[in-house]
Amino acid sequence: MSRFTANQWQRYQRHIQLDAFGVAGQLRLRQARVLVVGVGGLGCPVAQYLAAAGVGHLTLVDGDEVSRSNLHRQVLFTEADIGLGKAAVAAARLRAMNPELELRVVPEALSIDNAESLIEGCDLVLDCTDNFSARYLINDCCINLRRPWLFASVVRFSGQLALFTPGKACFRCLYPRAPEGVEDCNAAGVLSTLPGMVGLLQANEALKFLAGLECPLDGRLMLVEGLDLQMRHLALQPAPECVCRQGRAPILADDDTGAFTCDTSAAEAGELSPVEFEARRSGDRGLLLDVRSQQEHEAFNLGGDCLPLDEQFIDRARTGLPEKNSPCVLYCQSGRRSARAAQLLRDAGFTRVETLAGGIARWLEVRPDQPV
Ligand SMILES: [Zn+2]
Repeated sequence: MSRFTANQWQRYQRHIQLDAFGVAGQLRLRQARVLVVGVGGLGCPVAQYLAAAGVGHLTLVDGDEVSRSNLHRQVLFTEADIGLGKAAVAAARLRAMNPELELRVVPEALSIDNAESLIEGCDLVLDCTDNFSARYLINDCCINLRRPWLFASVVRFSGQLALFTPGKACFRCLYPRAPEGVEDCNAAGVLSTLPGMVGLLQANEALKFLAGLECPLDGRLMLVEGLDLQMRHLALQPAPECVCRQGRAPILADDDTGAFTCDTSAAEAGELSPVEFEARRSGDRGLLLDVRSQQEHEAFNLGGDCLPLDEQFIDRARTGLPEKNSPCVLYCQSGRRSARAAQLLRDAGFTRVETLAGGIARWLEVRPDQPV
């Protein structure tokens, strides 16, 4: 007996021809159960390619309706779909593309009430959302249920993605707390092709993961810059104090709204991990300041300007720094001087000051700039 029908054989022939993929890879895709959280800019290309490629069971989770402002990047939708539920419209398109798939529509946002039951039964979760609360919820459920998930985000001309698997660094190791002042596509805008590019990278990793091929993004963060076309990988290290080390993440509900609340207690406000710092540094977002002495700065530095923490520090900061609400990141050797300098700046009215936790010393241990 054949393992594929004639139609399936015709449809998936180009996959099966690939040595590394073959019959086994295609059969694995057919068995796979994938949860797509969010059917927007990322979810559209992701779901489209997973469906075309023959991923057998897809669950689409999205409580939003199609609006005209979605159409420049959410390519599964048309003018005629405005006002209709995204998950249902997307499912209809995917069904037309590949009628053999099992498609489940969940026309609601991922929440504390539905997350565990949705994640429990799937082989891979794809984060195609646009907010940190949803990502912490996915992360924590995936820690508790020992499930892998693929994180992706896009804003303006930049994107990020990473694969988190049980036992390795988790999303909270990378982002112990939601960064301050993070804007989503609605607030900051996004080039229409960025979610397509990052979504396809996400689909690419998903197909390889499901087919049992090697995934270079397992435990690594990829940064995609759409303007200068730079792509970089940063190795992620498990944070010693992170909930993932215990294998159990408490999931907190806000008593009044039932909404998920981010547990931000793990990190001091305004502290960046070496990987976060590296992402900030390479994205050229905000001012970078070395608060060690000029001599130390000249000997070795992580970029930016030198503004030594001495008696004139705050006077020079007042005259030399741009607007008080523009972002700035401080670093020193161990994190102590930068913490003191950050406090002085905050006391002087600067509102968006962050520091490199553990300073250059911890950064050198992690070496997040190393290409992989
Ligand atoms: Zn962790």
